[in-house]
Amino acid sequence: MNARHEPASANRMHTVSGETEQIVDLVLDYSRRRILSDDTPLDKPSTEAELTRLAGRTITERGIGATKALSVFEHVLAPACITTDHPQYLSFIPTAPTKAATAFDLVVSASALYGGSWLEGAGAVYAENEVLSWLAHEFGLPATSGGVFVQGGTLGNLSALVAARDHARHVLAESGAPDAPTPPGGRWKVVCSAEAHSSIASAARVMDVDVVPVKPADDGMLRGDDVRAALAEHGASVFAVVATAGSTNFGIVDDVASIAALKEDFDFWLHVDGAYGLAAMLSPLTRARFAGVEHADSVIVDPHKWLFAPFDACALIYRDPEAGRRAHTQHAEYLDTLTETSEWSPSDYAAHLTRRARGLPFWFSLATYGGAAYREAIGHSITLAADIAREIESREGFSLVRDPQLSVVVFEREGWTKADYNAWSARLLDEQRAFVTPSSHGGRPNTRFAIVSPNTTFEQLVAILDTM
Ligand SMILES: *Cc1c(COP(=O)(O)O)cnc(C)c1O
Repeated sequence: MNARHEPASANRMHTVSGETEQIVDLVLDYSRRRILSDDTPLDKPSTEAELTRLAGRTITERGIGATKALSVFEHVLAPACITTDHPQYLSFIPTAPTKAATAFDLVVSASALYGGSWLEGAGAVYAENEVLSWLAHEFGLPATSGGVFVQGGTLGNLSALVAARDHARHVLAESGAPDAPTPPGGRWKVVCSAEAHSSIASAARVMDVDVVPVKPADDGMLRGDDVRAALAEHGASVFAVVATAGSTNFGIVDDVASIAALKEDFDFWLHVDGAYGLAAMLSPLTRARFAGVEHADSVIVDPHKWLFAPFDACALIYRDPEAGRRAHTQHAEYLDTLTETSEWSPSDYAAHLTRRARGLPFWFSLATYGGAAYREAIGHSITLAADIAREIESREGFSLVRDPQLSVVVFEREGWTKADYNAWSARLLDEQRAFVTPSSHGGRPNTRFAIVSPNTTFEQLVAILDTM
């Protein structure tokens, strides 16, 4: 009977009570310990059978309670996840979020922010836009450029290329082509380096367009002359050229300036994929390598890679944001109140609608520490990569596959087969010394150090070389 006197929403999951206070304290206490820990082990995956044995069944009709659930996470699930911000995590592209950025990620969740529209999230959108403008300025883009933080580089590249094709269709339509303008030959094409990231091919599949891969020079850099031949061959069916500013495998920056110069003779959208490497444009050590980025029609950079933000954030910036908006705005009766205004709604600039204000952890950290701290932290990895490359070259039986340009160092151990690299890599992780995976180039096996953490040291890397 007394139930009728309780508020309609009274449900123990949503009320503030002793139980909820205890749950929140538990979670914040764990988070505090994890963020402030400087010796979280590297950890490693377990088998599904092992996890089933250790974690057991956690979803039940009555609930197992926060203490038990958190304990399963802390002692079973988390140790079965590799610590991606560990200084000896050197595979793929690691992450190295600042303490401020990670801590603020909790605030973003706690505040129930909606990052999709100005109407709902003006304050959050304002701060995210300040970061995007700051980045645009660093990249030499005009003050009128703008964009949005999306989940990752894959979605950033896709959204940019969708805008590029939409732009090309518009140009065709304006020249008098029919309703659904198609290019000569019927297929749209995107030109990129044969060493471009796999997400470009993925975007092309989603968009049902063709990729024209252009083989870069032996040093891995794509240059204007190589692109010119492709543009001459494929003509007006090319809607975009993608330049990679820091390839994932090698950290090689294409010659963006010479590619951009082709705009004088050809009509195309220049997209710069800088998911990993464009961060290095912030450092005076490497800034010059990125000449030409200022001519891009769109760029992406992942703050979760080398700009010290937690997963998952990709900054997508358009030179002409209106092109992004035209391509992406969703129209629906229930959304009219949002889309009929001129306010800046992040949802309008990529293939998404509901979004977390995922640029805010980066904003808070950048506001807290200032740009100079970022330049310095990025510079640390660049210098370290150069130092360890010299060390590798000087060692008997070791050789660099290519000279590093940014912070990826690819090298071979003489005489090693793929099986040797595999066994060595597994042993390193098993012994919790480092996470360094095998890779390959041109059919030859190798391995690589991808360095983004300012806590990675020369001595740690030398110790890894000593195990080979
Ligand atoms: C990592 C990467 C991507 C993909 O980014 P995700 O955030 O993993 O989706 C795209 N391009 C380049 C050059 C990258 O290094």
